[in-house]
Amino acid sequence: MKKILVTGGAGYIGSHAVVELYQAGYQPVIVDDFSNSQESVLAGIEAILGTAVPFYRVDCADEAALRGVFAAEAGIAGVIHFAAFKAVGESVLKPLAYYRNNLDSLLALLAVMPEFGVKSLVFSSSCTVYGIPDALPVTEATPTKKATSPYGATKQMAEDILTDVAAAGGPRTILLRYFNPIGAHASARIGELPLGVPNNLVPFITQTAAGIREKLTINGSDYDTVDGTNVRDYIHVVDLAKAHVVAVRRLLDAVGADQVETFNVGTGHGNSVLEVVHAFEQASGQKLNYSLGPRRAGDVPAIYADATKAANVLGFKTETSLADSLASAWKWQQTLTDKK
Ligand code: NAD
Repeated sequence: MKKILVTGGAGYIGSHAVVELYQAGYQPVIVDDFSNSQESVLAGIEAILGTAVPFYRVDCADEAALRGVFAAEAGIAGVIHFAAFKAVGESVLKPLAYYRNNLDSLLALLAVMPEFGVKSLVFSSSCTVYGIPDALPVTEATPTKKATSPYGATKQMAEDILTDVAAAGGPRTILLRYFNPIGAHASARIGELPLGVPNNLVPFITQTAAGIREKLTINGSDYDTVDGTNVRDYIHVVDLAKAHVVAVRRLLDAVGADQVETFNVGTGHGNSVLEVVHAFEQASGQKLNYSLGPRRAGDVPAIYADATKAANVLGFKTETSLADSLASAWKWQQTLTDKK
């Protein structure tokens, strides 16, 4: 089994990717500092796979510690770099923490990888790199605009750094620009585990339906969209995780010649916040307490993917409907609530 180092592998998307990688015949090795995740995620992964996955509690920005992981795990074939802070709103309030963590972890990784001859990297980028686009849907060729938050800026900078480093003989890199991952693994053993008040819509919805939050306040209802609320492209997290397996395989099998390739990873459909709320009510049978509130700093009015390139080049297509994605999120929430 080829070893794949997964930074941020205890996180929401990373944990699902670890499961898909293992099931596709790779040996994931997790690096995480639990700054936005919990140790219990490792037990969830083990329950699904029937085996423990090697884990190192390491801050990726700590170059020496990261070097220690590469030294201990001989023969790492490739890296998927998920580890980063990810909350758009929080990044507006704490920009330095975001620049530090998201860029230092990447720079440390890029310093250490060549020391161990590791030449393949998949990077977690984001549709936030497009800023507020002029036209929808966005393709990979859509020009990136000024980011609307420090978080988005870190992703733009990371893409530039990776492109420059790859051009100078660094690792061959696939930039995956995710849209909005939602839902949980079908086993309900892993899912989104926000610490504190959720920043993302779907955990806020499920926590409200479970009675943990009193009410969902929708961030803005006067946008120029179908019903005034933000429009996003919601992709099931297991579909997104599978895109990483495809990307890793492409790099390790040396398919394609470009040093850097960029792919949107979304469904190709946009849904408004109100559409998601109503789809959740239908999928779960729960009536949701919500109201319309003011806009939130850093939010882009509307964005969804043109997913053609991933389909044509990677053969990647999403499989899960919005309704099924929301049903999986609700099942996961109920598991969490039952544990309490
Ligand atoms: P997450 O917070 O659940 O996972 C990130 C993981 O990285 C966490 O387990 C955290 O503890 C860890 N981490 C953070 N900094 C670290 C460091 N310096 N060293 C070691 N571990 C560290 O987030 P996620 O939703 O799984 O996102 C994963 C990646 O995907 C991030 O890079 C994020 O920016 C990107 N992304 C996420 C979304 C989204 O909506 N969830 C959308 C687009 C892109």
